[in-house]
Amino acid sequence: MEIYVPDIYQENIYKINYKTLSSRGIKCLLFDLDNTLVLIRESLPGEECKKLFSDLKKKGFKILITSNSIKARVKPIAEELKVDYISSCKKPNIDKINEYIKNSKFGLDEIAIIGDSMMDDVVCGNTIGITTVLLDQMSRMEFPIAKIKRIKEKRIQKKLRDKNLFTKGRYYV
Ligand SMILES: [Mg+2]
Repeated sequence: MEIYVPDIYQENIYKINYKTLSSRGIKCLLFDLDNTLVLIRESLPGEECKKLFSDLKKKGFKILITSNSIKARVKPIAEELKVDYISSCKKPNIDKINEYIKNSKFGLDEIAIIGDSMMDDVVCGNTIGITTVLLDQMSRMEFPIAKIKRIKEKRIQKKLRDKNLFTKGRYYV
């Protein structure tokens, strides 16, 4: 069950303590896109998100968007935020992200994956062995495939709660 448990759990990208991440040695942030950075009906990021990304880059973080969505959706948003991206990641599959890491200068202990899906983002990150940050989904509006995964997620979260491993809404750093 530990594969589903994130290292950090916060409400959204603005509540994450990036200073703490930095002090833990994290230098590279892999952000999920849908329901993490933007709503599914949005095709461009908002001003608040742009400001956060600009601040994080100034602080020295390398940022990538790692999304299961296709290039046509991810590219314009990544360009607007001026960051690199990997589209069609197929998370929780680790292949594409692992390939990036292998070719990067970052060690596993320097990378964090941040996203709203326990089944995709957290499992992917824990399988690779990087820091995992789970967020609440921005909205209940989701793509159909994500909706199906939420059903399984709810079942897993009930088990985790029973075992005192994770409780939705109980945020922690
Ligand atoms: Mg997502």
